[in-house]
Amino acid sequence: MLFDVFVNGTLVGSFGHPQTEHLSVSVSGTREGSYLFSGVVCREEGKQLHYSWPDVTLSESDEVRIVRRDTGTASPPSKRYEMGRAERKAWEQNVCEFCQRNETQVPSLIAGDRKRPGICSECVELCVEILKGKQE
Ligand SMILES: [Zn+2]
Repeated sequence: MLFDVFVNGTLVGSFGHPQTEHLSVSVSGTREGSYLFSGVVCREEGKQLHYSWPDVTLSESDEVRIVRRDTGTASPPSKRYEMGRAERKAWEQNVCEFCQRNETQVPSLIAGDRKRPGICSECVELCVEILKGKQE
């Protein structure tokens, strides 16, 4: 699946992949301006991948037209990464990556994010004890 995107009648990009699982083309507006962006989740050789394309900056009163087509080639993506544990985590509840308990099962949980794992207060305490033992 592919989407051709036209701004004021001019093709600005084709976004998609032959083995699309999920594709989005979005327009976003902030105080600084507005832009168009696209990302796709797809399959390639059994791997689940995410591609995204460079943002297209929009000016006031720009007209965007999006046309679906099911064949052809996409514009070169700017980012490609394999969907792994870090990406899936965003959809899961917060858990301690060390003991796998969630925030209702531990005294306190330092939530993880895309860059670092979550850890609970009990695992932190355990680690501190282990480190203290090593120093003695
Ligand atoms: Zn823990």
